[in-house]
Amino acid sequence: MKVEEFIKNCESSLVGRFAEIDDIVYHNQKKVLDAFRENKIALRHFSPTSGYGYDDIGREALSKVYSQAFCCENAIVSPMIASGTHALTLVLFGLLRPDDVALSLTGAPYDTLTDVISGENIGSLKDFGIGFETIGFGQDGGIDFALAAEKFAKKKYKVVFIQRSRGYSWRDSLSAEDIGAAVRFVREKCPDAAIVIDNCYGEFTQKQEPTDFGADVIAGSLIKNPGGGIAPTGGYIAGKDKYIEQISYRLTAPGVGMEVGSYSAGYQPFFQGFFLAPHIVGQALKSAALFAKAFSLLGYEVLPADGNTSAASDIIASIKFGNAEKLIGFCQAIQRVSPVDSHLIAMPWAMPGYLDEVIMAAGAFVQGASIELSADAPIKEPYIAYVQGGLTFEHAKIALTETLISLYGDEITNNI
Ligand SMILES: *Cc1c(COP(=O)(O)O)cnc(C)c1O
Repeated sequence: MKVEEFIKNCESSLVGRFAEIDDIVYHNQKKVLDAFRENKIALRHFSPTSGYGYDDIGREALSKVYSQAFCCENAIVSPMIASGTHALTLVLFGLLRPDDVALSLTGAPYDTLTDVISGENIGSLKDFGIGFETIGFGQDGGIDFALAAEKFAKKKYKVVFIQRSRGYSWRDSLSAEDIGAAVRFVREKCPDAAIVIDNCYGEFTQKQEPTDFGADVIAGSLIKNPGGGIAPTGGYIAGKDKYIEQISYRLTAPGVGMEVGSYSAGYQPFFQGFFLAPHIVGQALKSAALFAKAFSLLGYEVLPADGNTSAASDIIASIKFGNAEKLIGFCQAIQRVSPVDSHLIAMPWAMPGYLDEVIMAAGAFVQGASIELSADAPIKEPYIAYVQGGLTFEHAKIALTETLISLYGDEITNNI
């Protein structure tokens, strides 16, 4: 079968899922539009600011728009936050004090948080005498409530940490509803804990966010979902007022918090990106569904399993390649059909913050933006590629064509 025909068949088999995605996008677009309208967003909110940024109306309005759309009391949305890792670091250092302990219900947090939590003599949580414990997932792949109950019976935790997306692990994302069940459980067993969600890659993948289900704080990167491919940098932290205030004292200075912070380039791309984000996330969800479906039909192990992405609450398709050569070839094919740096060859390298060598295909307009079509993979067994993003579904289709041709040539002859 010709590669083009194969991809057409994959698309046809996804009509149901695509309709579901369209429905989510419509709902979220309305939610975001309402937040713009009710906060009377106007051109003046886009004007540059300078210096301390006292009374920066753009910064304040952006915070209100995020707060409303994410069903939160307050939000920090800032170009001063350099990355998702930085946003999560601010949350942890904002809420935890020496001798406090946090508990992760979703195993070890994302790779780049390892040094933040337990690095030696670099100002990690550990260096400040703050504990961080983790429990793995249960037999059924969900949160291990029995083990968590044992933990809560023995100790008081100040922060309970949940990662929504899969990160670099072979598991499915947790839905906002799953997180809601965890929230109810934690409230009962450890009522004083702040429930913090690493929401990276999760925003707008469903009609609701973890905060709709009672989570205290969510955080993420603006060069992922909520930046809509337009935000040039930044991160957000949204949630309950009392927690956001504490965290804001880490962002700037104790006592100063959210009163300062200017941006001389103006906040227009952050507003516009957030407005576009529901649609762009929809494109990325369709792209992930297409990759997962195609590689599943070709006999690869993928997540979401069998390319059925209905339960997905992140924008990632994970594909197990089983050997380094195929994995690297796949990432290089994605790089070849990127709008930027298509002439470069993606190679594995020792990226700061990651444990293994990582290969990243990211021919993006915004450096490293993984809401744009990208594929990355730690170079280790069993050689899994994580494909995510896609500002346009059509780009993902072109990229899939390129990867399949590089693996199979023009004709796919597998038993499919
Ligand atoms: C990307 C990501 C992070 C870290 O964000 P950076 O912007 O890469 O620092 C943390 N957690 C998850 C689940 C992520 O996907």
